[in-house]
Amino acid sequence: MFQPKRQSGSMPVNRLLTLFISGVVAFGSLSFAGTAALAASPSASPNPEVSIPAGETPAPPPGESTAPETCGFCFNPSAYSLVKGSSLWVVVNKQRPLNPITYTPAQFGSVNLSKPAADAFLKMKAGMKKAGIGTLILNSGFRSYNTQVGVHSKQVARLGLKAGEALAARPGYSEHQTGLAADVSALGQGCTIQVCFAKTKGGKWLAANAWQYGFILRYPAGQTATTGYQFEPWHFRFVGINLAAEMKSKNITVLEKFWQLPAAPSYSY
Ligand SMILES: [Zn+2]
Repeated sequence: MFQPKRQSGSMPVNRLLTLFISGVVAFGSLSFAGTAALAASPSASPNPEVSIPAGETPAPPPGESTAPETCGFCFNPSAYSLVKGSSLWVVVNKQRPLNPITYTPAQFGSVNLSKPAADAFLKMKAGMKKAGIGTLILNSGFRSYNTQVGVHSKQVARLGLKAGEALAARPGYSEHQTGLAADVSALGQGCTIQVCFAKTKGGKWLAANAWQYGFILRYPAGQTATTGYQFEPWHFRFVGINLAAEMKSKNITVLEKFWQLPAAPSYSY
């Protein structure tokens, strides 16, 4: 790069005179000054606007950081409570009732699920349609404490406590009360709320892809001793994409094992 001789410490008199004269001329004539600035090489120009090399941007002002690094699957295990009824990650099972026991979601979406779960459900429905798998149906979403009181007492009156509770969760102990659990089926594919749903096109697609939308198959086959529920290939629980992806990457299918919580095969009578 050309460096002006003035940086060397010695400058011929004629050079100084030339600089002095051109300065006076430039000062006295705006039009000439403009032409001179355009013609000047960057290294010789005092104009800071042309002294920044092309492709470089000025450093941000002090105190202003650059954009944070994005990380799609950063996992922070303490991001949400496992206890509060309103938490995205609340774990509800036969040993862990809702907290508070009559909990109701504060905000619902356009389907009968809490807002984030409803939004994710609709995305999953669109994804399933786009993949040519069929139309996803929400058969059952949020169920209130009072609704569960009715369902539970009806089954227990009919079948007795143990057999009745095998079909209907105890009020305050149903994951559906969180507004984050969805019983689903695929239009026209049969096996609605039946184990054979796992063998349908929709059931297979959901088992493989629901995690991408933040849902997990909450009661997988062979985990009854931990979850307290038989295989329910239709019951999906929204936990958000980060947790669903983390569970998938660690190959852990149930919340109790992922969080190292006690197994919940039955209620404490
Ligand atoms: Zn369910």
